[in-house]
Amino acid sequence: MKKSSFWDYSSLWKETAKQFKNEISEQEYVMWFGNLVYADSRESGIILAVPSSFYKDQISQRYQSRIEKKLMDLQGSPMKINFVIKKMQSAKTGKPTGSMAQPYKKPAHPQLKSEYTFDYFVIGENNTFAANASIAIARNPGSAYNPCLIYGGVGLGKTHLIQAIGNAAIPQLSIDKIVYVTAETFTNEFISSIQDGSSHLFKKKYRSVSLLLIDDIHFLQGKNQTQEELFYTFEALYNSSKQMVFTCDRPVSELKELTDRLRSRFERGLSVDLQPPNYETRMAILKKKIEIMHVPIPDDVIELIARNVTTNVRDLEAALTKLAAYGDLVDKDITLDTAKNLLRDFFAAPKQRNITIDSIQRVVSDYFSLSYADLRGKKRTKAIAFPRQLAMYLARELTEYSTTEVGYEFGGRDHTTVMYACQKIEDRIKTDSTLEPIIRNLKRNIREYRISS
Ligand code: ADP
Ligand code: MG
Repeated sequence: MKKSSFWDYSSLWKETAKQFKNEISEQEYVMWFGNLVYADSRESGIILAVPSSFYKDQISQRYQSRIEKKLMDLQGSPMKINFVIKKMQSAKTGKPTGSMAQPYKKPAHPQLKSEYTFDYFVIGENNTFAANASIAIARNPGSAYNPCLIYGGVGLGKTHLIQAIGNAAIPQLSIDKIVYVTAETFTNEFISSIQDGSSHLFKKKYRSVSLLLIDDIHFLQGKNQTQEELFYTFEALYNSSKQMVFTCDRPVSELKELTDRLRSRFERGLSVDLQPPNYETRMAILKKKIEIMHVPIPDDVIELIARNVTTNVRDLEAALTKLAAYGDLVDKDITLDTAKNLLRDFFAAPKQRNITIDSIQRVVSDYFSLSYADLRGKKRTKAIAFPRQLAMYLARELTEYSTTEVGYEFGGRDHTTVMYACQKIEDRIKTDSTLEPIIRNLKRNIREYRISS
């Protein structure tokens, strides 16, 4: 063992990393070793910097013993690795992304929003792993991490990321080989293909793609025939090494009414999650959005939003949009006081994920002076039907429960009833201007109900 007053194992690390580069696929190497930086040496081993504790856990699970074994082989004595967490500025400046950053010159894809790119996606510790996996997949579709499942609550960037994969893959794959659909559209297309006898075309379309992106697969719960079709599509694509990416609002293990064989296919590749952003990431996201929107918002107001809007990125955007609209309409500078005033509703909102269907039912029945039991129950009188539809709609808006779960809480109704109710309310909002303020009121009461109870 080397006995000097200090240890420098940096070249030992270089050699170790080089050997891994030859042993694992490029994609795997870029994904994991691209984010591993030599930091320091100790007598007993090497300290490596990683961008987040999530990475640390993943790398120690996947590679720690292999790395230590290789170090020992090279060094001739036992070596340990330890990790320190050093936040990287963004994955864009790190090795993995390199040339992904040119969204503009590319031709547009009909189903993908051109602004959903990796460039516009702010990376923080809540999403580093998901973002880097997505980047790796876009670079090298089909060769590893197949399928990839991105899961997380509402407004945390699932749609943005899955579409960014599609956008970034455009230079390598022809546009018509990249298909993005929501699970809902997939289902509807499948059903109508059966109805008009064109299901062979449907099969052909989906089984000949190179990159299949399906958003919100929780929608497939309880849709057995569509699940079966997706299963066969999956098998066909998987066997010909075509890349698939799915998003879901929860881990696949928590989905109900999903056939075992499809569940096991979703779980076969890599699952990555999106968490709510922390304060620093919220600040970074707000600054990025402000830059894009060109609205002059002073720093103290940005901090106010970052401190108080903690739910998800969609709410951060909504807060900014509200301030921007005010700035436009009133043509006055946005001060801390105006911001506090305008954003009262946002700040009152607790984490949306904590709203229960029960609290919605209590607030809605109270508002319409109905009994809570009737609202949840089977009665079909007109006086109850509308409040019940509204409550179902609010449950879908304010919680992450699926239509199946919402139906269950309303007297065991079928998920299609819930879908129908939501559609009815949405249609009515368009034609009946009195409904919007009612809904706004109810939402506030539901949020406050939670605070006061
Ligand atoms: P989800 O599909 O998970 O409900 P979205 O992808 O629709 O969420 O994201 C909601 C909004 O927040 C979108 O406008 C998206 O661009 C934005 N967004 C989410 N995460 C980020 C992020 N990390 N950086 C920048 N914008 C983000
Ligand atoms: Mg989405």
